[in-house]
Amino acid sequence: MNDRLPEADTLLHGLLRNALIGVYVIQHQRFVYVNRRLADVFGYTQEELCADLDPQTLVASAGGPRARHQLDRRTVWEAGEDFHDFQGIRKNGSRLDVEVFGVSTSYAGAPAIIGMLLDVSERSAAERAVADQLRFIGQLVDTIPSPVFYKDEDGRYLGCNAAFEEFIGVERAKLVGRSVYDLSPKDLADRYFAADQALFERPGKQTYEAAVASADGTRRDVVFYKATFNKADGTLGGLVGVILDISERKRMEQAVWREANYDALTGLPNRRLFRDRLSEELKRAQRSASRLALLFIDLDRFKEVNDTLGHDVGDQLLVQAARRICMSVRASDTVSRQGGDEFIVILPQVVEAGAAGQVAADIIQGLAAPFDLDGHLAYVSASIGIAFYPDDGSEMETLVSYADQAMYAAKALGRNGFCHFTQSMQTHAMERLEIGTDLRQAVIADEFLLHYQPIVDLASNRVVKAEALLRWNHPRRGLVQPAEFISIAEEIGVIGDIGNWVFHEAIAAATRWQSLQSEMPRAGQAPIQISVNISPQQFIAGKCGDWSECLRRHGLPPHLLAVEITEGLLLDERQAVVDTLLAFRNAGVQVSIDDFGTGYSAMSYLKKFDIDYLKIDRSFVHGLTHEPSDLAIAEAVIVMAHKLGIKVIAEGVETDSQRELLRQAGCDYAQGHLFSDPLPAHEFGAYLSQGAA
Ligand code: C2E
Ligand code: MG
Ligand code: MG
Repeated sequence: MNDRLPEADTLLHGLLRNALIGVYVIQHQRFVYVNRRLADVFGYTQEELCADLDPQTLVASAGGPRARHQLDRRTVWEAGEDFHDFQGIRKNGSRLDVEVFGVSTSYAGAPAIIGMLLDVSERSAAERAVADQLRFIGQLVDTIPSPVFYKDEDGRYLGCNAAFEEFIGVERAKLVGRSVYDLSPKDLADRYFAADQALFERPGKQTYEAAVASADGTRRDVVFYKATFNKADGTLGGLVGVILDISERKRMEQAVWREANYDALTGLPNRRLFRDRLSEELKRAQRSASRLALLFIDLDRFKEVNDTLGHDVGDQLLVQAARRICMSVRASDTVSRQGGDEFIVILPQVVEAGAAGQVAADIIQGLAAPFDLDGHLAYVSASIGIAFYPDDGSEMETLVSYADQAMYAAKALGRNGFCHFTQSMQTHAMERLEIGTDLRQAVIADEFLLHYQPIVDLASNRVVKAEALLRWNHPRRGLVQPAEFISIAEEIGVIGDIGNWVFHEAIAAATRWQSLQSEMPRAGQAPIQISVNISPQQFIAGKCGDWSECLRRHGLPPHLLAVEITEGLLLDERQAVVDTLLAFRNAGVQVSIDDFGTGYSAMSYLKKFDIDYLKIDRSFVHGLTHEPSDLAIAEAVIVMAHKLGIKVIAEGVETDSQRELLRQAGCDYAQGHLFSDPLPAHEFGAYLSQGAA
């Protein structure tokens, strides 16, 4: 064949022979020349190829018709030159990828193709591998449930995953080449753009929270995690970003925050948020040298509504009261619920102290109208204490405590009013604190004693009972009256211990007097009954101790013991209260209702618990002679009590005319200075043995 190339230049010849490129000449659909390389590539010898072999033999069937077409065109002078690739087939049947550059030419006076062929199998394999990898990465990215996107170095979208398409509701195809301004509302786009710019200026990673306008039209809270990527040459290529939807987490956080900072019932700021706000307001007041007022509000008699109408109704009352308080203040004031029926209002920027008083008066007036609670009409009033920053104090705790003290002062002044804090209240509070500390000591040091006040049978004029009244022999203050320490003992929780001591002491004394009387029996003189006062606190906590055991130990007949409780307790439906009351009843201990008429005075409850005595409060007894209504009330109570089989004891009888009126009204017993002051135990013993009355 070589000798059929007569003018072949030696160099070209060598080149053709050794070239890395296959070279061929085709004429009449047969190779008329192939170089060594081409033969090697296909695994033939040059001779084999240039023998009578159809060049199509080298073309894998898939590429066949196309390759054939090209050849045909060229051989008929049509095609000029052409570049194409196809899959070849070696002599041994294996496949290879080739690229062919063919030119139409004439050879020995007839049309022919001269072409170059390159074995690109390795490159194709590498390209396929890259394509596979890209497809794999594409699928991987699509599998990520979080929205993913990528942008070029100008911040234009290059692509995204399926989750991103779905999240923002834009198809991938419409996204590519767009900027954030094409896709997002301006305010959001500004934010993204600024973030992208910042990231490009300092390539690396970036995390920030922002909102995204999602496909459903809502804005969702998200975290963007972005990072830059580089091109192969090391220059900035763009960024890739992942979006984490944190709307749900935000919503939960907000719910948790609400729960932690707002009162669930009234929706008002709770104690915690109140403290935050107060601390802020105090700082502001300090900066602007302005005055701030705290209004400590406590509803009067809320407990009664709660106890009689039930907790649901009580809740409704609190909700309505909260609303009314809010209506009496400005929107910029903070109304908070401290718990129970206590509210605190923060009034910032109070120029005149009187203005706070005016707000307090408005609140009281707002609460004065009846509350419609599920058809029940209820009236509650409020007592309000006011303290000022900086006039009264500058610390948060101090101010709250001062407003609280002022509130108690308002209650003591007869409720339904307001009081400004004064320093004497603080002195009083300090004294209570001191008494509290001393009280704990008093229980241990045995500083208590009982005085006994005779109770006289009005018909016979005889002493038939006595009330045990507590006294405290304070090492410095001398004899302290119960009014000065019982409420403190209740507050600090030592009333149970004190009450137990009272039981023991009174039962021991009653037992002594019983045996004394049996040694010196007087005609018709029954053994004396001793009544002890029980604090509601003691009752509610179920801390009435081992009184029954004590009765047994002393061998005192139970009817010689009576307990005095307040009306409120009868309304209390708590199990401990009912159980304790029934335990006394079942043991045969008699029950008196103390200070009757000052509380709720619900007759039906007297019947329910089979009460033995009513003690008409001394405020009614005091008015008997000059307040016709007091006399009427006393008479009515006596009649009603008798109808229910209950005996009546009048308290605080000081004059003969009071005694006379009570006797005429049918009152059974009386106690008061007229007969005797409360006496120390030994004096009362002596009084008994003399049989005085
Ligand atoms: P109370 O049970 O209503 O006791 C009657 C109070 O009236 C006693 O005051 C008594 O000294 C006073 N009193 C008696 N006669 C007259 C009178 O003619 N005129 C006037 N104006 N007052 C008279 P006291 O002893 O100061 O006790 C006050 C309250 O302290 C008692 O009221 C009772 O609620 C409570 N208390 C007394 N001792 C105890 C106790 O051992 N335990 C508990 N939990 N409370 C007690
Ligand atoms: Mg009493
Ligand atoms: Mg009383």
